[in-house]
Amino acid sequence: MQVADIRSKFLEFFEQKGHTIVRSSPLVPGNDPTLMFTNSGMVQFKDVFLGTDKRPYNRATSVQACLRAGGKHNDLENVGYTARHHTFFEMLGNWSFGDYFKRESLKWAWELLTVVYGLPADKLLATVYMEDDEAYDIWTKDIGLPPERVIRIGDNKGGRYMSDNFWMMADTGPCGPCSEIFYDHGDHIWGGPPGSPEEDGDRFIEIWNNVFMQFNMLADGSVEPLPAPCVDTGMGLERLAAILQHVHSNYEIDLFANLIKAASRETGCTDLKNPSLNVIADHIRACSFLIVDGVIPSNEGRGYVLRRIIRRAIRHGYKLGCRKPFFSKLVKDLVKEMGAAYPDLAAKEAIVTQTLYTEEERFFETIANGMDILDAELAALPAGGTLSGDVAFKLHDTFGFPLDLTADVCRERDFTVDEAGFDTAMNAQKDASRAAGKFKMNASISYDGAKTDFQGYSHLTIDGAKVTGIYIDGV
Ligand code: ATP
Ligand code: MG
Ligand code: MG
Ligand code: MG
Repeated sequence: MQVADIRSKFLEFFEQKGHTIVRSSPLVPGNDPTLMFTNSGMVQFKDVFLGTDKRPYNRATSVQACLRAGGKHNDLENVGYTARHHTFFEMLGNWSFGDYFKRESLKWAWELLTVVYGLPADKLLATVYMEDDEAYDIWTKDIGLPPERVIRIGDNKGGRYMSDNFWMMADTGPCGPCSEIFYDHGDHIWGGPPGSPEEDGDRFIEIWNNVFMQFNMLADGSVEPLPAPCVDTGMGLERLAAILQHVHSNYEIDLFANLIKAASRETGCTDLKNPSLNVIADHIRACSFLIVDGVIPSNEGRGYVLRRIIRRAIRHGYKLGCRKPFFSKLVKDLVKEMGAAYPDLAAKEAIVTQTLYTEEERFFETIANGMDILDAELAALPAGGTLSGDVAFKLHDTFGFPLDLTADVCRERDFTVDEAGFDTAMNAQKDASRAAGKFKMNASISYDGAKTDFQGYSHLTIDGAKVTGIYIDGV
């Protein structure tokens, strides 16, 4: 089943169950200046859960464009290393706003997966929150999943409700247990079931998270029941597609196979299994969709996340032998794959291509010199050594190497970077320039009316509010 069919079957299924189809919202959340990017389908409904927004429907479904790079959920470092993570991905979701609850949610999820998509029931497992007997009983009694394939999760790390299967939007407010569905790709792939020490392998892949918003958490950590429990679910389209197309990696699905072929054409790398091609194929999606949604490369905030992703892609192209712009040439291939589902992408092809080309030209001016320095520094380190923060900072300051790009190169060769040393060098430079009064650090930009202050990777504030991101399930 092709990606386009998977999307439409999902929406049709929930439409038949009384859900209103809602369009994907932009990657830059319009209703939440504290959130860097839309990282799940529920973002556009956040105010509905909080009770400050009302919709003309109480059941909704969508295919949401999501980005997990920067902010609370950051999968940038996973791309190129796992079979299941992207920066940009599509999340299939369904919601109940005070309408149906656990039983319908889980039964429909099961029906969709096993009947509509035809997944073999014996390859599916579910997790439930440790104390959630109701969800456990629905799985084992109503749906008939054997008890050994329903795993209770919840290790109380950091407090009573802090667990992989307990979802909280913030420290207080709506929250509740969740139940996740996993698929077993087979014992020829390394990995263990959820909750086991090998759970991070690629064998058991999490495909669908069903969150039951059931409580209101109070400041003292206790919970009271919500007057109207809600459901919030999210399933990764690419992960489902991998199963339905009988491949074990998201990067082998139809959409990615075509993008990887295009990346191979532009980079000249004929080994289609080369992880750099995966990174480039992933990043062309993230970068193009960010530009479509109005983000422009810059040194601050969201624009800097975009710049970092672009430069990371270029570095992988450089590794494959590219010495001039190649990345922007993939936009047309992306439009071929995704333009029908996302008409804005097709409409903005020219501006996306031009924006990426300009960034590429600029970074190709400095990347060779920076890479020569980095290569020499790493060659001088003992095996498993640490690159100094000063060198990482010099690469950043003089050659435009974002810290995560340098860290990616180091990781490939089993080195690490002294990130604290990098921050120290960065701060020392800021202090020095402030003291010299040579120029004023212009660390504030206006983005969509919100003032964005970039103070390092983990300290972004927008309009004075610390960016927290949305906490999905503790992962
Ligand atoms: P994982 O544990 O694999 O990182 P997660 O628990 O962070 O996933 P959720 O926040 O529960 O994911 O999001 C709901 C669903 O979205 C997941 O079950 C998965 O199918 C999909 N998903 C999450 N992150 C990614 C990603 N980076 N790339 C592709 N799909 C993703
Ligand atoms: Mg999850
Ligand atoms: Mg998870
Ligand atoms: Mg995750």
